[in-house]
Amino acid sequence: MAKALLQTTIAGSLPKPSWLATPEKLWAPWLLEGDKLVEGKRDAIRLALRDQEHAGIDIVTDGEQSRRHFVTGYLEHLRGIDFEHQVTMRIRQRYDALVPQVVAPIRRPKPVHSDDVRLLRAETDRQIKYTLPGPMTIIDTLYDAYYKDRAKLATAFAKILNKEARELESLGANVIQFDEPAFNVYMDDVRNWGVEVLERAAEGLKCKTAVHICYGYGIKANVDWKQTLGSQWRQYEETFPVIARSKIDQVSLECRNSKVPLELLGLLKGKDVLVGAIDVATERVETPEQVAQTIRAALEYVAPDKLYPCTNCGMVPLPRAVAVAKLNALGAGARIVRAEIERKAARKSKAARR
Ligand code: ZN
Repeated sequence: MAKALLQTTIAGSLPKPSWLATPEKLWAPWLLEGDKLVEGKRDAIRLALRDQEHAGIDIVTDGEQSRRHFVTGYLEHLRGIDFEHQVTMRIRQRYDALVPQVVAPIRRPKPVHSDDVRLLRAETDRQIKYTLPGPMTIIDTLYDAYYKDRAKLATAFAKILNKEARELESLGANVIQFDEPAFNVYMDDVRNWGVEVLERAAEGLKCKTAVHICYGYGIKANVDWKQTLGSQWRQYEETFPVIARSKIDQVSLECRNSKVPLELLGLLKGKDVLVGAIDVATERVETPEQVAQTIRAALEYVAPDKLYPCTNCGMVPLPRAVAVAKLNALGAGARIVRAEIERKAARKSKAARR
């Protein structure tokens, strides 16, 4: 059977139920404790899964329901990091934040996300994607008082992520995605060691591997930063050719309401492209036709079997009802364009038979 065209997926996160964490807030504290928290996270994953299935999303995630934040939610399970004595550091050259310090060799005492993938695999027949923070983005949120070398520290994380990713693959994950918003900021580092270290994180995986690059959630610091980038966002012009030469299979980026010139997608020849057709920085819900328009525009540069309609970024900061409506729009928009492609193919084969 030919591969299904325009398979839909999401960047990763979805809002959490209001009984699990305070809604519409990044880093929202958990509202449950102990065994109830464990059970609550598992129930939330089931709900995130159902919402995606109902919307017709083909490659589903756990909605990142089991972690408070896409980076620290992983780091808090590791050793070698001092979370108690935090220092102020500039994040992605944009905003100051209190960050933990690396004070000893980085270790992972035990697997972090195995139970999440076991649950997903048991609960759905669809393809599963699991998201992990990328090495360069991780080190951008830490003060390094031990390795004293960005590439070395990133490599230490890449080795740990690789172990995690291999375990998740063996438990049934079909896609492992590394989130690397830092790829838009440190272009020299991306070329010099960033992609190489990312490949180290993905080494030996037989499942699909993806990298999500983006300009961040719709939080104020990111919106202000985007204002300074000019009318065309051409950062990808430098990073895409390097990624195109890498072993990573898929690239996820924002295309809806974004100033990324779509012709830059042409630089990703040979890769699957996860085209963001849902803006996560606005609560306005896209119509299916608007989603279809974004997909059609991207089809000018990406073949339909390589194009995966997706969200621009994680939807965790949005109200839950808005996120569900956006999921539905994503599924419906992809169906519109899929039907168009099928009609066109049918017309073509009819004409050929004449
Ligand atoms: Zn993102």
